[in-house]
Amino acid sequence: METSSCSLCRDNKAFYHREYQGVNLCKTCFKASIEKKVRRTISSWKMFTPEDHVAVAVSGGKDSLTMLMILCKLSSKFPRTKITAVTVDEGIAGYREEAVDLASEYCEKLGVDHEIVSFQEIYGSGLDDFLQQKRQRLTACSYCGVFRRKAINLAAKKVGATKIATAHNLDDILQTYLLNILEGDVERFVRFSPFLKDPRGQFLTRVKPLCEIPEKEVALYGYAEGLRFQTASCPYMTEALRNELRSIFNRLEIAHPGVLFSSYRAMLRLRQLAEPGVPASTLQPCGKCGEPTVSSICEACRMVGPSSQGIEIPA
Ligand SMILES: [Zn+2]
Ligand SMILES: [Zn+2]
Repeated sequence: METSSCSLCRDNKAFYHREYQGVNLCKTCFKASIEKKVRRTISSWKMFTPEDHVAVAVSGGKDSLTMLMILCKLSSKFPRTKITAVTVDEGIAGYREEAVDLASEYCEKLGVDHEIVSFQEIYGSGLDDFLQQKRQRLTACSYCGVFRRKAINLAAKKVGATKIATAHNLDDILQTYLLNILEGDVERFVRFSPFLKDPRGQFLTRVKPLCEIPEKEVALYGYAEGLRFQTASCPYMTEALRNELRSIFNRLEIAHPGVLFSSYRAMLRLRQLAEPGVPASTLQPCGKCGEPTVSSICEACRMVGPSSQGIEIPA
């Protein structure tokens, strides 16, 4: 079989065929293209300033570890930028320990400070115990998502960070946009963005530097870098609709290369067109924990309830 050479450098053997651009890339050119794309995403969304202290949310999975590697590489040119990795231990037995260890290992290798916070210390119990105590009205992912968001915000503030970076890739972003539409939640559709800044400055700005990199290429970058990451998926994972969307988009991208990017651009445009019509929510400090919220008590405090006695969540 004939091995083709890289379309860019013309020297090295091709490592990857990027269908949506019709090019063959060697390992070096592929990695460079991803770093360049992330750099462009960061600058076009004005995600960071050179003085930022970025809290990078690192779960120990391939996306977050790859993002940490790329951000460390890119930030080497910005001596005033600081990066701290933040890992949340949700308290999921037999699943989380490995990922937390992997995260620590990479932080040490990259020379990055690592802050680990647990549901146990913030909410009084880990996810396993919490789900056992509750009469479950919501899925584990709904509780975990709310708790994790707040935990990352608290950890980021604790280390003195000015921004939070999460590792959502292009596929994740598209799935979220479509999920919001399929679930009929237009407000949430409009609020969701790769760059979320709270105009009152009560929440740390959250950015998604990998938002324009397809999931497949994030994984390939990790592979090219010899990354070791957690492969087991969360035992509570129940996001059926999201998984169906993932496989639909995978099929569509194979049949119509480039469709991920064109629908991503369409979502951003739709969001932009709808934005002026959506009333800005008024944030106030939560009556229990002081974190910013749209109601008197924040979602996480409502879920935890007044005590750890298994109180039901108010409707
Ligand atoms: Zn090349
Ligand atoms: Zn609260």
